[in-house]
Amino acid sequence: MSENDVELGAACEAVVKESTRITPSQGDEVRQIVLRVNEPSFRFVEGQTIGVVVPGPHEFGNKYHMRRYSIANANIGGRGEAVDVSLLVRRCFYVDEVNGERYPGVASNFLCNAAPGDKITITGPYRSPFQMPVDSSANLVMIGTGTGIAPFRAFIQRIYEQKGGWQGQVRLFYGAKSGMDLLYMNDQNEDIANYYDEATFKAFNGLAGKPLMGEDKALERSLTDNASEAWGLIQQPNTYLFLAGLKKTESALDKVMATAAGSAEAWKALKAKMIAEERWSELLYS
Ligand SMILES: Cc1cc2nc3c(=O)[nH]c(=O)nc-3n(C[C@H](O)[C@H](O)[C@H](O)COP(=O)(O)OP(=O)(O)OC[C@H]3O[C@@H](n4cnc5c(N)ncnc54)[C@H](O)[C@@H]3O)c2cc1C
Repeated sequence: MSENDVELGAACEAVVKESTRITPSQGDEVRQIVLRVNEPSFRFVEGQTIGVVVPGPHEFGNKYHMRRYSIANANIGGRGEAVDVSLLVRRCFYVDEVNGERYPGVASNFLCNAAPGDKITITGPYRSPFQMPVDSSANLVMIGTGTGIAPFRAFIQRIYEQKGGWQGQVRLFYGAKSGMDLLYMNDQNEDIANYYDEATFKAFNGLAGKPLMGEDKALERSLTDNASEAWGLIQQPNTYLFLAGLKKTESALDKVMATAAGSAEAWKALKAKMIAEERWSELLYS
């Protein structure tokens, strides 16, 4: 079944509260879009995604165009209150291989064009592959690229701002094309620094050195430069690993960790152990 053939299930209405571009005007556009959901049955936990339904008619006759987006904030709504849901959306384009024309992605452009006050139909929230451990002495290793930072921001808000007293070590390994593409960690927007506790948190960012180098290569650089930090934590029995963003992110991690572990087999065995112990989770998309 393709993404376009989904049955929507429960849907509700959200109103755009804010839309802010968080990348500089040159380069890729990524916006933080805050939706206000005034529906008592809609509640979410950190790590979940929602669906955004674009009104039709659609070019290829599909009934719906629904795409998933990670929730980028912690849930602070009380019982019965309206909740805010932050999304981090990259405005996508694709080039038609036959005629070479550049077309806008439907849902990402719909969301990035939406203005405060606009109404949007959402579905979900969907079950999260990410389970935050309840034990606050657990170590968290977050590895991602691009908009994969969204669920990590929600986790960081949850454990430091709302929960407080997180004792485990928290590490973020992140790859971006340039310094300004570091989402929530660039010169214009250092949002994540507002939440974490410096005693337990460290971020290691890798940047692509060349124009055509992808975010996955930038992540590989961040992991390679800090391999002993990553490997030291990943080997510990109370470490939980979270992987988010582009599908290629996983290959970057596998490559660096196979070297750190001494062989691809040794890394595969540790990864299988972490999966079996439910200490490994991933949310990857193309
Ligand atoms: C679990 C999950 C979480 C996600 N979280 C986020 C997030 O937090 N932030 C975020 O920005 N994105 C996220 N995504 C990606 C998001 O769901 C969308 O896939 C993305 O925004 C593009 O959707 P779109 O409707 O704009 O593009 P679409 O219109 O669906 O086009 C997307 C791609 O489809 C292909 N395509 C479509 N039509 C054609 C055609 N006619 N010819 C050739 N190629 C075509 C192209 O490769 C194009 O790039 C997530 C995805 C998943 C599965």
